[in-house]
Amino acid sequence: MIDFSLTQEQQMLQKKARDFAQSEIMLIARKIDESNDSKIVPWHLCQSLFRKGADLGFTSLLLPQEYGGMSGKCTDFVLVQEELGAADVSIACSYFNLTAAMSLFITRGGTIEQQKRIFSYINSGEPLLFSAAESEPLVATSDIFCPYPDSKIGMRTFAQRDGDTYLLNGTKSASITNAGIADIYFILARTDLNKPQQESLSMFYVPADTPGLSFGNRTEMIGWKPSHHAEIHLDNVRVPVENLFGQEGKAGELLMLLPEVAIGLAASYVGLARAAYEYALDYAKQRVSWGRPLIEHQAVALKLADMMVNTQAARLMVWDAAHAADTTPQLAAIKAPAAKTFAVDVAIKNAQTAVEILGGYGVTKESQAGKFLADAWIGYSCDFSRDILRLGLVNFM
Ligand SMILES: Cc1cc2nc3c(=O)[nH]c(=O)nc-3n(C[C@H](O)[C@H](O)[C@H](O)COP(=O)(O)OP(=O)(O)OC[C@H]3O[C@@H](n4cnc5c(N)ncnc54)[C@H](O)[C@@H]3O)c2cc1C
Repeated sequence: MIDFSLTQEQQMLQKKARDFAQSEIMLIARKIDESNDSKIVPWHLCQSLFRKGADLGFTSLLLPQEYGGMSGKCTDFVLVQEELGAADVSIACSYFNLTAAMSLFITRGGTIEQQKRIFSYINSGEPLLFSAAESEPLVATSDIFCPYPDSKIGMRTFAQRDGDTYLLNGTKSASITNAGIADIYFILARTDLNKPQQESLSMFYVPADTPGLSFGNRTEMIGWKPSHHAEIHLDNVRVPVENLFGQEGKAGELLMLLPEVAIGLAASYVGLARAAYEYALDYAKQRVSWGRPLIEHQAVALKLADMMVNTQAARLMVWDAAHAADTTPQLAAIKAPAAKTFAVDVAIKNAQTAVEILGGYGVTKESQAGKFLADAWIGYSCDFSRDILRLGLVNFM
């Protein structure tokens, strides 16, 4: 049976997220967007926001109750992420989506000892910010999907086994989300450079204060201004073998365990698509041309109708993918990238249409339309490019 109605608890959760997003996230995002101070560190303004959101349960929503979480489902998570994304997609994705989804990863990919170790921090009441690093400056990140068994293709960051420890060396790209501000890093490295990447990728848990770990300057992007991205330098970073997640060389399988990352991003982008639609709708109701509001001109009304229909279609794909994540994870492996790429396409299209409907005002810094467009385009390559994710779907045809 198909039922799209929300339970009373889900409606309350959605309202809680909407209230927080509109009263708190929007305010901070606006402040950062409008600031011309290049020295501003967005995280300094976002940190208390992150703590408040964590207190409301948004970073631990997916965690089982025994770890201090809410035992929520992915179908609950997407309701929250859409609301956060409608207020600011970069805050929704960088801080909340990444941390919430990586927490879940620990329960699925970590040993009992690792779970106890990491979640003991969570129970201390101080929310932890996570970062996950695979991209490297001199390697196409798309190589991670390369089917050829060629040891020369793929990441170069190397983890050398040394007794009861691993020694990590390498550089991660300037796009790494939360690099330099996170508490815990999940680092992907090769444990054998003579084997193909598919057989040699391993995932390590590296606390921020580990000697040898350092970071580049904050990367400026065309949008996503409230977020923080930087290079990670690993210079003889030594971690105990207990910090290896899953089996050595099998990190590829671990990554398949987490469709929630892409689904949460997709939901956040539905939020952006919705915000762009509502913003353009509001303008079209107020702006008068030829003696009547823009919305009464069919050419404009049709654009708004397309925005509304496409947003709804993207939302249904996200809900469908979330339902699969909750019930049939093997299906979620297909539905998650499909939903993420579709939601970002819709967000880009809606943002572009908002710029069109707002006319000359749409390209001013004062209007929100340009911000929507820049933020929407970032979704194209965030967490793997649109095309590489779509090409991956061919494997399931
Ligand atoms: C906002 C943001 C946040 C990010 N956060 C993180 C993070 O936290 N951690 C992290 O590790 N990385 C992160 N990234 C990096 C991101 O994962 C990569 O940018 C993305 O996967 C694309 O990889 P690339 O830039 O190396 O492009 P490339 O892999 O070099 O690809 C360039 C272009 O070529 C196309 N292409 C490449 N290979 C093929 C092929 N075989 N067939 C067809 N087309 C192909 C791609 O679709 C793309 O359009 C982030 C990026 C952004 C923008």
